[in-house]
Amino acid sequence: MEKINAEFIGAGKVAIAGHIRPDGDCVGSCTALYLYLKQNMQSLGLEKVDAYLENFGVEFNILTGSEEIKHSYDTEESYDLFISLDCGSIDRLGNAIKYFDTAKKRINIDHHISNNNFADVNHVVPEASSTCEVLFSLMEEELVTKEIAEALYVGIIHDTGVFKHSNTSERTMVTAGRLISKGIDFSSLIDESFYAKTYLQNQVLGRCLMESILVLEGKVVFAAVSKKMLDFYGATHADLDGIIDQLRVTKGTEVAIFIYETDFHEYKVSMRANGEVNVSKIACYFGGGGHIRAAGCTMRGSAHDVVNNLTLHIEAQLRDLGILKG
Ligand code: AMP
Ligand code: MN
Ligand code: MN
Repeated sequence: MEKINAEFIGAGKVAIAGHIRPDGDCVGSCTALYLYLKQNMQSLGLEKVDAYLENFGVEFNILTGSEEIKHSYDTEESYDLFISLDCGSIDRLGNAIKYFDTAKKRINIDHHISNNNFADVNHVVPEASSTCEVLFSLMEEELVTKEIAEALYVGIIHDTGVFKHSNTSERTMVTAGRLISKGIDFSSLIDESFYAKTYLQNQVLGRCLMESILVLEGKVVFAAVSKKMLDFYGATHADLDGIIDQLRVTKGTEVAIFIYETDFHEYKVSMRANGEVNVSKIACYFGGGGHIRAAGCTMRGSAHDVVNNLTLHIEAQLRDLGILKG
């Protein structure tokens, strides 16, 4: 794919959307592209730019432009160009699918290794840390304002766990450096969007850690949140960010699993690997996807069924790797 300024010229009416249950990279990339296109509407010959995402965490309200993202999909509009960001497959677009289906041209910009190239133009870079890193490479640097830089930076820090996950590359750090040169207050962006927790979020985190269990000789740590627990605390899925990261740093574990109930006997699964276990392979098997060391899927059954089904696959990989014997 060419740079945005060449590829999008004369695009007319444009819609931007990301994946369901948006995370930092999703909100950051949608906000950044929205601001960029809005700012260059005239020179690009655009008539209209709309961005759509499901509700996201309040920690992202610090991003200028995020307040203009639409959360309702009632508008009966057919767009000339639809851009999917940070989304590995069409089913993860949620309600935005209706705009994808009716758009004249579809572009898919992403970094998931499991991305199945569902659009007309697919720009998927699995070695990139985040969609925000990919997006920066497609923008004209002199047109990246401080507000756009803030959104891109937040996306990068969320997908890299503040530059600590193995997806962080020299390219990631160079990109972050270029964004810092735009004058962003990176310390407060990191604190406010990543580390700050509400009292309620800390309570749920604490409870998950307290009730977590070790399985497969301590190589796997597992925690679950039921719908009942969410209701008790008055929490939503947006309050559960970061729990999987805390589970993952449990000493001696190869894989961390976090699940939360989205419907009766339906769970959203998150998995993280510390070593060589390929969790993307397991998530793909259960109809999800992601990256080698960070992946997710949705599974049905009781929490017990879910963990049993997942650990069967993890156990097989741990045996192949010689980590579990006997
Ligand atoms: P999460 O555990 O939700 O933070 O997701 C980890 C990674 O896996 C992210 O890159 C997600 O986009 C991806 N992922 C999570 N859930 C799914 C799913 N149901 N289908 C495909 N990819 C997923
Ligand atoms: Mn994402
Ligand atoms: Mn991402």
